[in-house]
Amino acid sequence: MPPRREFGSSGVRVPVIGQGTWQMEGDDRQSAIEALRAGIDLGMTHIDTAELYGSGRVEQLVAEAIAGRRDELYLVSKVMPSNASRAGTIRACEQSLKRLRTDRLDCYLLHWPGNHPLAETIDAFEQLRADGKIRAWGVSNFDERELERALEIAGPGKIACNQVLYNLAQRDIEHAVVPWCEAHGVAVVGYTPFGGSRFPPAGRSGKALVEVAERHGASPYQVALAFLTRAPTLFAIPKASSPKHVRDNAAAANLALDPADIAALDAAFPRPRRRPGVPSL
Ligand code: NAP
Repeated sequence: MPPRREFGSSGVRVPVIGQGTWQMEGDDRQSAIEALRAGIDLGMTHIDTAELYGSGRVEQLVAEAIAGRRDELYLVSKVMPSNASRAGTIRACEQSLKRLRTDRLDCYLLHWPGNHPLAETIDAFEQLRADGKIRAWGVSNFDERELERALEIAGPGKIACNQVLYNLAQRDIEHAVVPWCEAHGVAVVGYTPFGGSRFPPAGRSGKALVEVAERHGASPYQVALAFLTRAPTLFAIPKASSPKHVRDNAAAANLALDPADIAALDAAFPRPRRRPGVPSL
């Protein structure tokens, strides 16, 4: 069962390892639903989705998977930047609620920075919160300058999380985004924890990862998740449409990496040099 930790300054404790749902519309539907349900049974109750995913079809699939279990969940969805005007954000949220067959989201995110003034989006988030349609809100794909701007608009204690790309090969956020979030009580939710393509990677780095895994009798997926959630502000949301993969990911909670493991992974997957912005998919 993944341990829970405080989700930024939201006051809510959320499992360190949750479940992503991107591209599930292309998976075997029954298997994806079973996988999400198995994950909930195993305590991976943080479920991440978005209006963008399958143009709403993934939210409908999630609705089926979570039916009857809403109160156990930390349910997150996202508004697309093109919809994130004041009125558009409220409309988009109401449509997500309908597709998800629920009356509230635990957290609602701006999917990435867009062209509508951020102040309008934040205003809409606050309205949704006052109306009980969302419990908290956050952002996604924000770098430290964009986070600073959001903080200036919203004031302290309002941004629950920043969901950003984070995996062994993409550690850019460790330079400035993670420290900013730690300093301001914002949870960092790492997406695409397995890097999206070949995993474990080929070559020396992949070999080092497999060696750490073998030392612990764990899978490389579990090692990656343990590494990516090694600090108190960090959360991960792996996506798995197979119940077997979900069980593997949930068991990452039993894996404690020691300083030698961390050092080996650090050497095999070094932080890149600092560059402006945050990488995203
Ligand atoms: P990911 O979680 O890094 O990788 C998913 C892939 O890994 C799937 O092919 C899955 O296979 C496989 N997998 C998962 N666990 C496994 C295991 N234990 N053993 C073997 N294979 C395993 O990729 P992702 O979907 O890009 O990222 C995760 C979530 O982050 C998304 O689903 C989405 O919710 C969120 N996200 C957010 C943004 C954003 O802009 N905010 C962008 C991208 C993603 P199966 O499906 O076959 O089980």
